[in-house]
Amino acid sequence: MSILVVGTVAFDSIETPFGSAERILGGSASYFALAASFFTRVRIVGVIGQDFPQEYLDLFSQRPIDLEGVKKEPGETFHWRGKYHEDINVRDTLELHLNVLSGFVPQLPELYRDAEYVFLGNIDPLMQLEVLNQIRRMRLVVCDTMDHWIRESLEDLRKVLKRIEILVINDSEARLLSGYNNIVRAARAILKMGPKVVLVKRGEYGVLQFSDSTIFATPAYPLEEVFDPTGAGDSFAGGFLGQLARSSDQSQQGIRRAIVYGSVVASFTVEDFGVKRLAGVSLAEIEERYKSFAQLTDFQT
Ligand code: AMP
Repeated sequence: MSILVVGTVAFDSIETPFGSAERILGGSASYFALAASFFTRVRIVGVIGQDFPQEYLDLFSQRPIDLEGVKKEPGETFHWRGKYHEDINVRDTLELHLNVLSGFVPQLPELYRDAEYVFLGNIDPLMQLEVLNQIRRMRLVVCDTMDHWIRESLEDLRKVLKRIEILVINDSEARLLSGYNNIVRAARAILKMGPKVVLVKRGEYGVLQFSDSTIFATPAYPLEEVFDPTGAGDSFAGGFLGQLARSSDQSQQGIRRAIVYGSVVASFTVEDFGVKRLAGVSLAEIEERYKSFAQLTDFQT
């Protein structure tokens, strides 16, 4: 069993109220792959520049992560610079250098084309479509996006939405995509666009899951210190889809358990800068926090 992910492999420069970091490993595919690799094998499709250090590639290779689909192109790696406000839920993009990502056309190695589980990370919907077109057989497709694509590439994004099962999206993006302020109405409208399930990420307030017949709510794991929220969404998606692949259980209860695993993995990511904590955590620690999540939300009717 394995998961194919397409997304950014990046340099991130980050400033939060607690410190800053320059050109550290980031990108939607990086966070997703590290998070999902606790549960199953992951295959990355993406692009890096000549400046991408071997040390970061080694970080992936030490885990069950395949890099055959990561192309090294002449030029510089995608670089994002972001700054978080005192209210850590709010961030500004200060710089965005697409570099080798501009004009990138994903090419799936032969071995990748039978992917059963697919994660379309936050990139141009045209690239997401390109990946879908190259896959022969798939069981479950999960997709992420962001405000930029909703504003600039809505037509392509709508084509993607028609071909996926699960959309993960944050609350402000769900409002933007649907035109509704109320999050329940927004999710209902998005369900009509194609996905069978919509997972609305609400930062420190947790996740809401919507399908035609169900709603499920989970809090974020309460932490005393959040150092850097970068990658929380992608780590959530990695833990979520990783658990779905590991369990092969897509029942309503199976999806709920996967949402909790996603929330647990994301809670580790935000405890330190970049991928530092995520790359150092153990599966035993993940399982332990998963169990304490059950206590956190347990109550008697
Ligand atoms: P998240 O915090 O989970 O939303 O994802 C953060 C990651 O998204 C960072 O590591 C960035 O490298 C990456 N990122 C930021 N802006 C973009 C963009 N416009 N397109 C693709 N990836 C981006």
